[in-house]
Amino acid sequence: MSIETLVPQSELSSNPFNKESFDEVVMSTYGRFPVAIEKGAGCRLWDTEGKEYLDFVAGIATCTLGHAHPALIEAVTKQIQKIHHVSNFYYIPEQGELARWIVNNSCADKVFFCNSGAEANEAAIKLARKYAHTVLNIDKPIILTANSSFHGRTLATITATGQAKYQKNFNPLVPGFSYVPYNDIKAIEAAISDLDEGDYAVAAIMLEPLQGEGGVRPGDIEYFQKLRKICDETGILLIFDEVQVGMGRSGKVWGYEELGVEPDVFTSAKGLGGGIPIGAMMTKKSCDVLRSGEHASTFGGNPFACAAAIAVCHTIEKENILENVEKRGEQLRQGLRNLATKYPEYITEVRGWGLINGMELQADIGFNAIDIVKTAMNEGLMLAPAGTQVVRFVPPLIVTEVEVDTALQIVGKVMEQIRS
Ligand SMILES: *Cc1c(COP(=O)(O)O)cnc(C)c1O
Repeated sequence: MSIETLVPQSELSSNPFNKESFDEVVMSTYGRFPVAIEKGAGCRLWDTEGKEYLDFVAGIATCTLGHAHPALIEAVTKQIQKIHHVSNFYYIPEQGELARWIVNNSCADKVFFCNSGAEANEAAIKLARKYAHTVLNIDKPIILTANSSFHGRTLATITATGQAKYQKNFNPLVPGFSYVPYNDIKAIEAAISDLDEGDYAVAAIMLEPLQGEGGVRPGDIEYFQKLRKICDETGILLIFDEVQVGMGRSGKVWGYEELGVEPDVFTSAKGLGGGIPIGAMMTKKSCDVLRSGEHASTFGGNPFACAAAIAVCHTIEKENILENVEKRGEQLRQGLRNLATKYPEYITEVRGWGLINGMELQADIGFNAIDIVKTAMNEGLMLAPAGTQVVRFVPPLIVTEVEVDTALQIVGKVMEQIRS
């Protein structure tokens, strides 16, 4: 099915996009590129001027099935004709079906639904605190998170986020968090023993299996396995933020499978609904401590969002998408590594899992990640920065061999341009 058959050109671009009018009324919380996107199909996007782009951003690792995927269109169309929203006052069959899929395809026993990554992490933080009070008997629980992490934009999740730039001017922050360097077992052992004082103790450790916003940094297998052992011995909860890396992006359904350790609690959002807003917190039975009235969300797990997520889950299985993620990821990293070999003065490293990859730039070379992103956009390729030095490649998981080749050619051209 082509996008042209879905949305006739005559219905698009009737009014030229008015940036000034937009900026007058929409808060300037985002640094936006001066481009307005109006339609998409597969891994392609078109802006209001009719310019075509290859999409290696996917709404920030979110549009799992790309744009206008027939399975997603069918699922949400059918669902909105039936019932799109009711309250959690009632049983919602689609929620049960989605939770069943997640439980069957992960180490989790139970699922709580919400609407975003930050909310899923908030739920995990609340669960960890209740677990600390009622199971671990810790009066003043501390949650350890990592430097350079990212967990969302609510007050508790910016506090959990180990990056000062997200916290600036928003203090007082939420108490009960402390930070450790990522992938450093000595540092976390020291923190656990240092923080065990009086009523205070570490109750949970919350980490990304691969740090996304922090620069596409994969977790170290040995580190995570040692951490699992520490948590088993002490009772400390191990919480994984799988918001960006989960739902097939790593080439496995969950990022923790890359590390060979299971978390006690983990969260998902971005890719789960393929672009329809939904978040989820998963837990093992042993830490399923939240009871009726203790946590809730009006929209959480509504029929519409769940139907979209179910379609994403089923399509991942039916279309063998994980295999595509592995193959296209290999192809992409190989191509980027060839560029790194060609331009060692500009590129330090290429790293990632499946279809979440980063190309790190040398410092002080006169340009950084955002300059690559802008130049690539001019050339018709959407990329995203992850911090100042890393260019992030997170295409839809349905990306084809030809599309990866095209993207690599464009990045090669961009490197040529940017050094001259
Ligand atoms: C994007 C992201 C979040 C926040 O998700 P929102 O849906 O924007 O609230 C949390 N954790 C990680 C790892 C993310 O990448």
